[in-house]
Amino acid sequence: MKRTSCSACGHTDLDQFLDLGLSPIADAYTATPDEQSPKFPLQVVVCAKCRLVQLLEVVPADVLFGTGYSFYSSASAPLSAYHAAYAADVRDRYPGLATRGVVEVGCNDGDLLRHFRAFPHVGVDPSSGPAAVAAERGCEVLVEPFGLATAQLIRSERGPQGLVFANHVLAHVEDVSDVLAGIAHLLRDNGIAMVEVQYLPDLLVNNAFDLVYHEHRNFFSLSSLESAAATHGLRVHDVELTDRQGGAPRGGLCRPLVPTARVFKVRMSEQWLNDFSAYAGMQGRAERIRTRLQDLVVGDVAAYGAPAKLTTLVAFCGFDIEHLHWCVDTTPAKQGRFIPGTHIEIYPPGEPDVPRDGFLLAAHNYAAPIMAANPGNRWILPIPAPVLI
Ligand SMILES: [Zn+2]
Repeated sequence: MKRTSCSACGHTDLDQFLDLGLSPIADAYTATPDEQSPKFPLQVVVCAKCRLVQLLEVVPADVLFGTGYSFYSSASAPLSAYHAAYAADVRDRYPGLATRGVVEVGCNDGDLLRHFRAFPHVGVDPSSGPAAVAAERGCEVLVEPFGLATAQLIRSERGPQGLVFANHVLAHVEDVSDVLAGIAHLLRDNGIAMVEVQYLPDLLVNNAFDLVYHEHRNFFSLSSLESAAATHGLRVHDVELTDRQGGAPRGGLCRPLVPTARVFKVRMSEQWLNDFSAYAGMQGRAERIRTRLQDLVVGDVAAYGAPAKLTTLVAFCGFDIEHLHWCVDTTPAKQGRFIPGTHIEIYPPGEPDVPRDGFLLAAHNYAAPIMAANPGNRWILPIPAPVLI
């Protein structure tokens, strides 16, 4: 189903700037090489009014998230450490708010929420597997999708809340407006909502078209986040660019507080996004990267890392097992499975061999630590422009 109006503001003037063709669901790793992967159009549009960048095709949530593969936050040690520091920072910066109630939208396995167990709290997540782990860790959890209706239920039972978290949630929801309406409804007058999103300018500047996949429905700048929040009476009072997922703004949404100087600074840096030319060159750059990769990925080459973005990359480049003979990834749940839409099998690192002509470094956002931990290999870095190292 194609979107006919903006997910945040409802405007119907959506300008397409990127078409990556048909691509499978990125993290629907198949169990056998011959298992069919349904493919859907991967086209990206920008709203002419609020500048929210979003996918044109809306794949139904049950198709998108019913793949059997679940991401568990606590499985990543760096992410777990990040959550501990994040929780401490919020408690220090907004003392007393947690005692008024904490809600985490998209709480996953409770890796962040567990730091607020001493306070009245509830997590909301539609994935039963991670939610069950959160419950085992002593977190209260509602297993359902979040929107205004869920927020009304929580507020009727628990009253208005001091802190709401929604980290890397807005990127994945079909209806941004409904989720922000829910957050606004939950917050008490002096409450704060901490929101993290992946940063659109980084995607554009780094030519990171492989971050475009169906699970990633929306791409925010500070400006488009401010616009979407304002529709629900909220404003971004502070923003911080973090290193998570290759650059993510973490913003505090609230009603009464005046925006900090950092908000003005980031907002000013985004003026270029108001011109369609900011988006229009992306298609040509993606196609040039494809041509160059098709030249480089020859001979005895494998992929290093099986992140969701590899699915987009191989689908767009037309790669299969004759190009990338295998893939290695440290995630046990992915090992023994296949890159969606291909016959490329995922192995643990060290198996089956070191490819003579190099690894395509699919997890390129972790390039430095991966290359340092695996000296002596040749590497093909695909983004922001393909290079052989
Ligand atoms: Zn819009």
